[in-house]
Amino acid sequence: MEHFDHCIIGAGIVGLAIAFKISQKFPEAKILLIESNSQFGSETSSRNSEVIHAGIYYPENSLKAELCLNGREQLYQFCEDYSVPYKRIGKLIVASDVNDIAKLETIHGNAAKNNVSLKFLNEKECLKLEPNVNAKAALFSENTGIIDSHQYMATLLQLAEQQGVLYSPNTHFMDANKTDKGFDIRVKTGEGHYDFSSQYVINSAGLHAAEVAAKISNSLIPHYHLCRGHYFSYQQKSPFSHLIYPIPNANTAGLGIHATLDLAGQVRFGPDVEFIEILDYSGNEERKQHFIRAIQPYFPTLNPDKLVFNYCGIRPKLTGPNEAAADFLIQTSTQHNLEGLINLFGIESPGLTASLAIADRVIKGITPS
Ligand SMILES: Cc1cc2nc3c(=O)[nH]c(=O)nc-3n(C[C@H](O)[C@H](O)[C@H](O)COP(=O)(O)OP(=O)(O)OC[C@H]3O[C@@H](n4cnc5c(N)ncnc54)[C@H](O)[C@@H]3O)c2cc1C
Repeated sequence: MEHFDHCIIGAGIVGLAIAFKISQKFPEAKILLIESNSQFGSETSSRNSEVIHAGIYYPENSLKAELCLNGREQLYQFCEDYSVPYKRIGKLIVASDVNDIAKLETIHGNAAKNNVSLKFLNEKECLKLEPNVNAKAALFSENTGIIDSHQYMATLLQLAEQQGVLYSPNTHFMDANKTDKGFDIRVKTGEGHYDFSSQYVINSAGLHAAEVAAKISNSLIPHYHLCRGHYFSYQQKSPFSHLIYPIPNANTAGLGIHATLDLAGQVRFGPDVEFIEILDYSGNEERKQHFIRAIQPYFPTLNPDKLVFNYCGIRPKLTGPNEAAADFLIQTSTQHNLEGLINLFGIESPGLTASLAIADRVIKGITPS
C-alpha cells in the first residue's frame, strides 16, 4: 500500500495554502492533496466576497483576530511575490444615522484592541471620499483590500505541485482507520476505490469537515449550521471607489449587506444571512426586497432595476441564528487524542484572508515541539 507523510482532504483556499506551506517547510515529505470535485476551490472558496479583511470585528485574542492579522500581511506579500492581482482599496464603515455614530466608537475600540488602525471621518470628509454615500460619519480602514481569489488558488496549487505535492481531483475521502504508522485511508475515484496510508491526515473539507471527521473518529465533532449569503450584482458603473459597509447589528452572522468591488470595478452587494437545512446554492430571488431596504440607507440613489441576483455562498458556522459567532476551531491530538489528525472546523470569514496563517497553525500542530 502506498504511504504518504501527509494527506490533506479538500482543495479549497485553506487546503491549498496548507499544501503550499507544508511542502515548503518539509521539502522531502510525500504529500497528497485530494479533492472531491473536478476543480479546486469550487465550493466556499469561489463563493465569497474576495475581500482581504483588516481584522476589525473579531474578539480580542481570538484565533480569527490573530490569524486574520497575520494572514493579511502574508497574503499581501504573497500577492506581490507571485503577481496575484490585488488592490489595497480601503473600506468605509458608515453610520447613515446620527444615532449610530456611537457604534462606530465601539468598532473603533475593538479594532484598536486587535492592533488594527482605523481613521474617523466626519460627514464632510465622507462626502469628499464617497459622494454617493449617505454617511453622517465613518471609519476608514486603509488595510482592507480585494484579491483575485481564483488566481490566488491557482498560484498556491502551482507552487505546491512544483514543491512535489501530488494533487488528486475527483477523489472523494471515504474513511480512515488509525494504525501504528498513522492512518489507513480509503478514497473513491472515477476508477473505483483506492487504499493508501498516511502519517498525518489534515481535514480541510470546509462545509463537509464534520462529515469527514466522523469517518475517522467520533470524538469532539461540532454541530454545523449552514448559513447562506446571497450576492446581487449592480449592473451599472460603480458609484463607489472603496468598499462600503454598514454598521453590523449585534449578533448577526454577517457584516451587514455591504458593497464590494471586484478587480474589474464591478460592484456587488451582499452577502445576507439565511440559515438553511441542506446545501443549496440556487438562491432566493425574493431576497431582493430585503437587499433594497438594507442598501438604501447608505446608498439612497440605488436603482433597484440594476440589482441582479448573482450567486450564493454558504458559511460553515459553528453557531446558530442569534448566537455570537464562534471562533475558528483547529483541533489536534491535544483535543481529540488521535495522534496525526488535524481537523479544521468553522473556517468561515476571514478564512480567505487568514489562509496562510491557518496553514502555519496546522504546521505547528504537526511539528514535534
Ligand atoms: C458568503 C461568504 C463570504 C465570504 N467572504 C470572505 C471574504 O471576503 N474574505 C475572507 O477572508 N473570507 C471570506 N469568506 C470565507 C472564505 O471564503 C472561507 O473561509 C474559505 O473559502 C474556506 O476555505 P476552505 O478551503 O476551508 O473550504 P472550501 O472552499 O469549502 O474547500 C473545502 C474543499 O473540500 C472538498 N471536500 C469536501 N469533502 C471532501 C471529501 N470527502 N473528499 C475530498 N474533498 C472533499 C470540497 O469539495 C471543497 O473543495 C466568505 C465565506 C462566505 C460563505
